[in-house]
Amino acid sequence: VSEIPTEFDDARSESEALRERIERYRTTYYSEGVSLVSDAEYDADFHRLEALERAFPELAGQDSPTQQVGAALVSVGFPSHEHAERMLSLDNVFSLDEFVEWATKAQSAAGRPVRWLSELKIDGLAISLAYRDGVLETATTRGDGRVGEDITENVEFIPAIPRRLEGDGFPPFFEVRGEVFLRSEDFEALNERQHALQAEFVAEQRAKGRSEESIPTRFPEFANARNTAAGSLRQRRENKNPLQLELMRDRLGRLALYLHGIGAWQDPPVASQSEIYGLLSGWGLPVSPHSRVFDTIDEVTAFIADRGEHRHDVEHEIDGIVVKIDELALHDELGATSRAPRWAIAYKYPPEEVHTKLLDIRVGV
Ligand code: NAD
Repeated sequence: VSEIPTEFDDARSESEALRERIERYRTTYYSEGVSLVSDAEYDADFHRLEALERAFPELAGQDSPTQQVGAALVSVGFPSHEHAERMLSLDNVFSLDEFVEWATKAQSAAGRPVRWLSELKIDGLAISLAYRDGVLETATTRGDGRVGEDITENVEFIPAIPRRLEGDGFPPFFEVRGEVFLRSEDFEALNERQHALQAEFVAEQRAKGRSEESIPTRFPEFANARNTAAGSLRQRRENKNPLQLELMRDRLGRLALYLHGIGAWQDPPVASQSEIYGLLSGWGLPVSPHSRVFDTIDEVTAFIADRGEHRHDVEHEIDGIVVKIDELALHDELGATSRAPRWAIAYKYPPEEVHTKLLDIRVGV
């Protein structure tokens, strides 16, 4: 890691170059589901920019990516929808030392004993579901945190998103937040189908006398589960032929969901987020079976280490651990920055491999 420049002008020109690059990566990632660089490379740029802004706070305007959630979306035609309460991102740490430092500060800011809700960080995309009188009103992507895309029309094909709640006792209106993702086995099944369709297409073309090299790839392999889930969710039905429509239904039908937070919800009847999960589950809403609550920071670091070793024993991809203060009153007391809550942190695992394949699926293909 190179030193932070001592001259303001040097820091400014470096930060401008970083901002421009990060904006380009973000727009492509969030709007098109395409990763131009690996997540680790993206994170390295982002953290360099944060470090420059810490050294020279004048560089950190509201328009910096470090102050924003996601990116403004390039519309694929869904209506936009304003969240009743803003959706945020998470601050990251990349080592256990940094995690302990964060937790110790959060503990002392809380001023009373804290319990730590520790969860797997699912590598998917964030969604907000609003229920009114127990019926799904809107399903919305995170967008820039304030306004997202209303993808409710696709929910018909996503059995993982309940359209009606079970039981009773739910608030008249509330928002829940979670992660839409593809289980590893479903991601593989989708790719097997792409291979089979491509092989069929190649055979057809060869029968028509075309040489193998001249046959285009009509059914490309999906590069990773996260971008495939994002691309699947943001597909439009319009102008699709019957085969494309069937593939769209297959992709949407395989999407999974775990809820991991709440948005607008007046006076929840419980005191902690882990109890919220109990309520959601009772209403038929899916929550992760992998979450744990711990009393000490040591137990959390042991959980992080243990889950890191068993990363692949889980049904979905994980890119870290999210640690949250469990008590809801402390969420209000500690509040949030413009980008992330102060009562939660994402510990990111080091990348396991460098992605060589950069192009993922494009929305609507
Ligand atoms: P993030 O992925 O670091 O963390 C915030 C998100 O984590 C939340 O919004 C939520 O959706 C999700 N999450 C998953 N499990 C969760 C849980 N149990 N509890 C709470 N939240 C959970 O932040 P981000 O703002 O969504 O995206 C930034 C990240 O996206 C980068 O760090 C990078 O990894 C990736 N990215 C990559 C590129 C690229 O070009 N490769 C570009 C942009 C972003």
